[in-house]
Amino acid sequence: MPPKNLLPENLLPKSTKPSPLQSLQSGTWFKLICGASYQELPAIRNLALVYSLAGADCIDVAADPAVVAAAKEGIAAAERVAAEHSRPYQRPWLMVSMSAGEDPHFRKAWFDPAVCPALCPRPCEKICPADAIEVGGVVGDRCYGCGRCLPVCPWGLIEAKSHPTRLSDVARQVLTQADALEIHTQVGQFEAFKQLWQVIKPWSHNLNIISISCPDAEGLIGYLKDLRRIIVPHSSSVKALNVMWQTDGRPMSGDIGKGTTHAAIRLAQKVIASDLIGYVQLAGGTNQYTAPKLNALNLLHKSPENSRNNCQTGDRMVSGVAYGSFARCLLMPVIGQTLYLEEVSLTLWKAVAIAESLVKPLKQSVVSK
Ligand code: SF4
Ligand code: SF4
Repeated sequence: MPPKNLLPENLLPKSTKPSPLQSLQSGTWFKLICGASYQELPAIRNLALVYSLAGADCIDVAADPAVVAAAKEGIAAAERVAAEHSRPYQRPWLMVSMSAGEDPHFRKAWFDPAVCPALCPRPCEKICPADAIEVGGVVGDRCYGCGRCLPVCPWGLIEAKSHPTRLSDVARQVLTQADALEIHTQVGQFEAFKQLWQVIKPWSHNLNIISISCPDAEGLIGYLKDLRRIIVPHSSSVKALNVMWQTDGRPMSGDIGKGTTHAAIRLAQKVIASDLIGYVQLAGGTNQYTAPKLNALNLLHKSPENSRNNCQTGDRMVSGVAYGSFARCLLMPVIGQTLYLEEVSLTLWKAVAIAESLVKPLKQSVVSK
């Protein structure tokens, strides 16, 4: 995928849109999750291109140099397209995701196709949302570890193999190119988190925000406070980093159905009700029902006037929503494996309109109240 030349600075579109930080502060932050172990490069480039044009504040990708390069290409292509069409544009932050300890986001499915019975109707292939299962088995670069194929094999042949990020190999390369970092963790992984942070720390001054993604568990709030003390020690003389809590309700399930959004909302309410300092952003089960539901519960900001200090404790609301499997599944039938989507104008704008149908309800929550 050869990189295309970037536009000179003076030809870039002038932004009339809020910056990602302003979106966080006003509760309208939209993040696209490409998937912590999703490595299908043309699809990542297209997803980044389309959601950047649709107004995403952040594109979250695997901490893999090739994936980061593909996402950056998509974001740069969006900037060129916006300039060509005199379209308001705000470059989204690029976030990379890493794992502290074992984490299901970094697993991939595996089976030996040689032992599959010839009569098998191949339910694994049908259920895979990423078209990652072929006659030859699982295509590792496409599998993002959602786990749906595991229980459907009548012979129980599919297993999950852990693919932890080899951080020391990639930290410098990806963190110097990223605007933001996400660390996936679970209650009880404190030592693994500490070790990870030691590797990351030298590069943290480049970052606008650190996101901590954690599912619910007993002792969650205390665990998150311990992590925050590592990231932002009281004695720190450097500028305090912005911290965001990603409430990972029901991981990788947003495209399954309406009800999946409830776990993420419940978890966000729990974090908001605590005295944890940091922005709160939903993920895990988010879909088209999430923003309307948050609005109905008065959890999104009502107006820009009362949106200050959203990361402080007290009168706090949700800062934004991250969409993963739902956002990807929405677009994949349209964009498929098209290379250089920006050169297929009709398809590009159809995809942007679909992406906007997910972005706009969140962005409009401020003005509609
Ligand atoms: S169903 Fe999920 S875990 Fe299984 S191969 Fe497809 S993406 Fe990977
Ligand atoms: S469902 Fe099981 S047996 Fe059938 S093709 Fe998939 S892995 Fe093989």
